[in-house]
Amino acid sequence: MPSFPNPIKSKLPKVGTTIFTTMSALANEHNAINLSQGFPNFEVNEELMALVNQYMRKGFNQYAPMQGILPLRERIAEKTQELYEAVYSPEKEITITSGGTQAIYTAITAMIREGDEVVIFEPAYDCYAPAILLAGGIPVYVQLKAPEFTIDWTAVKKMINQKTKMIIINTPHNPGGSLMTAKDMKELEKITSRTEITIISDEVYEHIIFDGHRHESVMRYPKLAERSFVVFSFGKTYHNTGWKMGYCLAPENLMTEFRRVHQFVVFSANTFIQYALADFMKNKNYLELPAFYQEKRDYFLKLIQGSKFSFTPASGSYFQCLDFSKITKENDFDFAVRLTKESGVASVPVSAFYHKNHDPKLLRFCFAKTNETLERAAEKLCAVGQLVA
Ligand code: GLN
Repeated sequence: MPSFPNPIKSKLPKVGTTIFTTMSALANEHNAINLSQGFPNFEVNEELMALVNQYMRKGFNQYAPMQGILPLRERIAEKTQELYEAVYSPEKEITITSGGTQAIYTAITAMIREGDEVVIFEPAYDCYAPAILLAGGIPVYVQLKAPEFTIDWTAVKKMINQKTKMIIINTPHNPGGSLMTAKDMKELEKITSRTEITIISDEVYEHIIFDGHRHESVMRYPKLAERSFVVFSFGKTYHNTGWKMGYCLAPENLMTEFRRVHQFVVFSANTFIQYALADFMKNKNYLELPAFYQEKRDYFLKLIQGSKFSFTPASGSYFQCLDFSKITKENDFDFAVRLTKESGVASVPVSAFYHKNHDPKLLRFCFAKTNETLERAAEKLCAVGQLVA
């Protein structure tokens, strides 16, 4: 194909293919167990699949309303009130999206202008900074304190100024597996009070939370909720990341701006899946998720106990970071590649979640896998001590 004559001036010159795509491709190429990209390898609930099939066959195959179908928005409003004691209007304050990433992109695009500063915490999920840059904004990075990945609020305070327009938080945290606490929320409240700073609260792992902890949603804090876009993912909750379904909640004034953009980004999300989810949500299956995933986390950690990796158990999300500093001096990317090729287990190097040179000697493993997969992977990870760098 002849190429366009002028060199293209990229809008994202520093960005390559995402680490998830890269590591999944490497895993496939080397036939490795893929614990890199975060997705479950077990099946979606039969009843939910039957409902999807049923609604597709019933003919719900044309555009959904731009904001999503009302029954699903109503179910979400009920769930939100039940779990977080927060009241959102299904008509005006809830929008169904094509996944969490689209909701985040849409909220950033709706709010951020040229030169606006957006505070994000590193390690940061990979879609935040590119969306900020595409909107002409400036990502301002605050480092989370490893290995617990907690927030240093004094450091945050130092970064806030007149140009700060948004703070993006993520709890349970990907890749760190940490949780924000009630105290964190109070700090965030203090920092943002009497400012016009908006918040994106990425809560896609809301139900994947361990050891009896409570999910501290921003929605529990009215002074935070009034300035927040809260983002959720059906994919994480119902084991169907490939369906790309999510939603966003925000007070009416923010949601109005969100929808102005949303309608031109995707217009609307998949219709028949929305109907199926609206029915299926009535079962409240999400209440079983903490126990389900805690068992997986515990099993994985037990299986790798004899390995040379060390760890702080994740408190939430379906990711566990493992420290490999006792194994090799290699950087995490090189080690992740070698581990995939030589040991047959793919992971994500945590440096991928930092904007510049960082060598945390950590790999992120997704434990949303069948016990059999976890066993096979752990066996390989336990043998890793023999690798020489
Ligand atoms: N959220 C998934 C993860 O953290 C990746 C999604 C994607 O591939 N973009 O692994």
